[in-house]
Amino acid sequence: MLVVGGGIAGLALGIALRRIGRTVELVELNSAWNVYGVGIILQANALRALRQLGLSDACVAVGYPYTVSLHHEEDGQLQATRHKPSLLDEGLPASCGILRPALHDLLREAALSAGVQVRLGITVTTIVDEPDTAHVSFSDGSEGRYALVVGADGIRSHVRSLRFPEAQPPRFTGQGCWRFTLPRAAEVKSAVMYHGRHARLAGLVPVSQDQMYLLLLSEEPGNPRLAEADLPRLLNDRLRHFGGLIPAAAMQMPAPKDIIYRPLETQLVSAPWHRGRVVLAGDAAHATTPHMAQGASMALEDAVVLADCLDAASTVEQALQRYADRRFERCRRVVEASVQVGRWQMQPEAGADPIALLREVATELMRPA
Ligand SMILES: Cc1cc2nc3c(=O)[nH]c(=O)nc-3n(C[C@H](O)[C@H](O)[C@H](O)COP(=O)(O)OP(=O)(O)OC[C@H]3O[C@@H](n4cnc5c(N)ncnc54)[C@H](O)[C@@H]3O)c2cc1C
Repeated sequence: MLVVGGGIAGLALGIALRRIGRTVELVELNSAWNVYGVGIILQANALRALRQLGLSDACVAVGYPYTVSLHHEEDGQLQATRHKPSLLDEGLPASCGILRPALHDLLREAALSAGVQVRLGITVTTIVDEPDTAHVSFSDGSEGRYALVVGADGIRSHVRSLRFPEAQPPRFTGQGCWRFTLPRAAEVKSAVMYHGRHARLAGLVPVSQDQMYLLLLSEEPGNPRLAEADLPRLLNDRLRHFGGLIPAAAMQMPAPKDIIYRPLETQLVSAPWHRGRVVLAGDAAHATTPHMAQGASMALEDAVVLADCLDAASTVEQALQRYADRRFERCRRVVEASVQVGRWQMQPEAGADPIALLREVATELMRPA
């Protein structure tokens, strides 16, 4: 089988496929095969998927597990301490902050040890259906025939553009996310959030015993292109009304290159996610905003479920249909709820209850994928 993309979905799938005895080749376009150095939150369902790959304990050991989130007014006054939906009965914390490079290293080492054959700096150029196989040409001139090709190549998936040319491009939601890493403040033992004016949400999330990251969601009308050199000034400006622990964190802002700004974009490809012997996974099929911190969870669950379906079904076609049946509604729910919460942040509506919606969906996600 061929996996295109060596990110969270592709690596997790490589490991999951090796665990059911399949031969796996993986191609990754980025020859350095690195990821940017800020944190993400792994929710309990992500940790459950990682446990199925044998990696949850390692993630919790290098990351920072926690069970509550603290919510404050913009000025720093505590509003509420919220217990997050969790899988404590399965021995998993509700959430675990982790540096993306640390997660990447764990997945990469596990994939390589499991025998995934990796080629870097190349991608697919064409995919032609043949009876029971896909004939693939690569950008280095090589070719191969595979029982299945998985497009795990992220939100701007090239595989998706080859096989689902009618799929809508990713859609900008109106918000952007700013992040940088800094030493963990002793008070930050869980996600510490501040709800600000102007549709802004700031937070501090521990990612290890020594580090945390600052995040800010902000409305960014017109999806501006921001020059790297301007990022500290722009971020400082957006943080200036926040109190609590935010001013001290802002004082530790790093060099511009270490401030990661991303416009928020979504994508949801209609099911089924396969055509012939090509199937999509992770952000290539469904990309969401960070409001629920579920993008990586969905990618990890895709990997575990796709391998499970391939193992159980008698034909590849049956397996791929079953995969979409098990995944589409769950991913749609995450994408739509996340977009809705962002919309409410930008345009408050009477009676809207974003906390209740987030809680409802997060609770649903505690059911097995
Ligand atoms: C601002 C922000 C904050 C987020 N925070 C969280 C969070 O807290 N928790 C969470 O769960 N999720 C979070 N996410 C979402 C999460 O990062 C993604 O859902 C996750 O990375 C998806 O994994 P993936 O493997 O599908 O895609 P990616 O991680 O993007 O990996 C795709 C891989 O494919 C490679 N590739 C690309 N094109 C090609 C090609 N043509 N050929 C070969 N290889 C290719 C890329 O180099 C990359 O290695 C966040 C996202 C954003 C934007």
